[in-house]
Amino acid sequence: MTLMSDFSVAIVTPMQIHDPKSGPIGHVLIVGGGTAGWMAAAALSRLAGNGVTRISVVESEEIGTVGVGEATIPPIVSFNGLLGIDEADFMRATQATFKLGIEFRDWGERGDRYMHPFGGFGVDLDGVQFHQHWLRQRSAGDTSSLGDYSLSTVAAGADRFVKPGRDAPTALQTLKYAYHFDAGLYAAYLRRYAEARGVVRHEGRIVDTVLRADDGFVEAVVLADGRRLEADLFIDCSGFQGLIIEKALKAGYEDWSHWLPCDRALAVPTARVTPLSPYTRATAGSAGWRWRIPLQHRTGNGHVYCSSHISDDQAEAELLAGLDSPPLDTPRALRFVTGRRKAQWIKNCISLGLSSGFLEPLESTSIHLIQSGVSKLMTMFPDKSFDPLLIAEYNRLSRQQFEQVRDFITLHYKATTRDDTAFWRQVRDMPVPDSLARKIDLFRATGRLFRYEDELFSETSWIAVLIGQGVLPRTYEPLADIVDPALTQKRMAAIAGVIQDLTGDMPRHEDFIARYCKA
Ligand SMILES: Cc1cc2nc3c(=O)[nH]c(=O)nc-3n(C[C@H](O)[C@H](O)[C@H](O)COP(=O)(O)OP(=O)(O)OC[C@H]3O[C@@H](n4cnc5c(N)ncnc54)[C@H](O)[C@@H]3O)c2cc1C
Repeated sequence: MTLMSDFSVAIVTPMQIHDPKSGPIGHVLIVGGGTAGWMAAAALSRLAGNGVTRISVVESEEIGTVGVGEATIPPIVSFNGLLGIDEADFMRATQATFKLGIEFRDWGERGDRYMHPFGGFGVDLDGVQFHQHWLRQRSAGDTSSLGDYSLSTVAAGADRFVKPGRDAPTALQTLKYAYHFDAGLYAAYLRRYAEARGVVRHEGRIVDTVLRADDGFVEAVVLADGRRLEADLFIDCSGFQGLIIEKALKAGYEDWSHWLPCDRALAVPTARVTPLSPYTRATAGSAGWRWRIPLQHRTGNGHVYCSSHISDDQAEAELLAGLDSPPLDTPRALRFVTGRRKAQWIKNCISLGLSSGFLEPLESTSIHLIQSGVSKLMTMFPDKSFDPLLIAEYNRLSRQQFEQVRDFITLHYKATTRDDTAFWRQVRDMPVPDSLARKIDLFRATGRLFRYEDELFSETSWIAVLIGQGVLPRTYEPLADIVDPALTQKRMAAIAGVIQDLTGDMPRHEDFIARYCKA
């Protein structure tokens, strides 16, 4: 009898390593060296410590990477933390800045502005969610904005930032943040990390994928110079085309462009902005929206748009007209179809990053979806039998996560009263997935919102966007009436006061970075 336990490393026999269909994975080949490839390599490099599994990456300098993807959400902090990365070192190397949320301009209607902050609004009072008290006071004539009770919103608006230390006031400890960073520098940083831990990189262009004759599993990829790279597990990080998952394994693609019709983007850098904002800006345009991402050494800008409503020339003109300073380069064009691979793990190939699907960058979720795919893979790491139950569970969880993010992004388009262009009328009037329609209807009717099954975005995020875009509930939770309105008003004023005081004590974002990143 074989004892499978913590000692599995010790009991691997040479025969198992060479058997292509049983025993532990001996070689993982990551196909592609963009953000997805190197994030996967960095995380999986820990596996090399088991003495059995080798990790390699193959990438092509000639093909290059997509070269965008610079805004993130808070879980990235724990991804870097789990790798043991020193934050100041990472920020210096990637020209990173801190991010407290996203400012949306002109979304609900032209001229409006709101922040989707990381971190909550106020504090629950007497067991009732803060926004219910706010809705109740509002119905009695209070004119304060929900953002007045969010530390992230107020600090971001003042271009201030501080990392809370251990002895900081409790309210400050709730400050959540993410990063903006240079995508190329982040991939290079993770490459150095992974190579230092034994990951081997191959340079070359893949021209063919060889499938095993008997069961269609991937056996090897073949490079243009004739080299053949074999592996037990392939991680397809080859970008939009899905070199293995689609071209060889024919996963199929679920197209979501009827809900998210933007299909093109232009990206262009400008000089660094001052003051350095600790937030991403997303400004709605005539047929899409423009991003502004402040980095230490430059600002990333882009225009995501719908090609059936605006020409490429008009989209470029709209992008350039909206820049804060002159462009440093000519805009780079990208095309995409929003949706997901019908199966993200097939046989011995798992797709991560753009090869697994794409949701437009409005809520900076793509890098997070890579992170989440990598952590699922780590907890479901297979052996060479590739149990179909494991594969089915991975695919079920990935589908659920992509759909939840899709709904949240679609909300931004649906929850609008804009009717100034055909694009906005189309998205305002479009039918949305039932899961999203149910959420909007329930919130509008009752002010209640529920988060389902480990959903990425919290109630706070949904409330920020719904209220920010003018979806105001017809009523509030009756329990909010239990507290004396004068007392609620006093408590709300106290919360807003604490937030103002804490923000006033914070350094300017750029000063904090200069001090924190000083070598
Ligand atoms: C307009 C736009 C804006 C975005 N903004 C954000 C954002 O703000 N935040 C966010 O989280 N995400 C964002 N994203 C998504 C983000 O850019 C990607 O999720 C991320 O960069 C991962 O890309 P990737 O590594 O999957 O693919 P890529 O960067 O395309 O890398 C593919 C790799 O595969 C290699 N390769 C391809 N074919 C071959 C071959 N035949 N042989 C050998 N190697 C090959 C390439 O050389 C490259 O190394 C954005 C995407 C777009 C399109």
